[in-house]
Amino acid sequence: MAGEPQDDCLFCKIVAGHIPATIVRETDTTVAFRDINPQAPTHVLVIPKVHYENAAALAAAAPQAAADVLAATQAVADEEKLESYRVVFNTGSGVGQTVFHAHAHVLGGRGMQWPPG
Ligand code: C5P
Repeated sequence: MAGEPQDDCLFCKIVAGHIPATIVRETDTTVAFRDINPQAPTHVLVIPKVHYENAAALAAAAPQAAADVLAATQAVADEEKLESYRVVFNTGSGVGQTVFHAHAHVLGGRGMQWPPG
């Protein structure tokens, strides 16, 4: 059922504690952990505990959880003392989404180009 944990979802397994992750922040509705393949000195993923395949589906079905994810990205940036940072929601395989459980990348600690590649 939509929103329920999925047996084959990596991030649901991290939420459940069945796969290890370096968790930096947790709330009732979100978990934030360091990306296993960091693309910047700070690279943290913020995920909702509920399972939706991407940020668009999350925002449509569970807007409070989507807002909680956004608030958590801000909290992570504060905790990591990032003056400038980028928040990315890859949405769809065409732009590089590889894990189909909504997540925000919080990237900082180095300069970045715009537009992104
Ligand atoms: O946006 P996208 O779906 O490509 O991001 C998935 C991210 O999850 C990647 O940056 C990847 O390094 C990260 N990942 C992780 N821990 C895992 C598996 C993937 O941090 N066990």
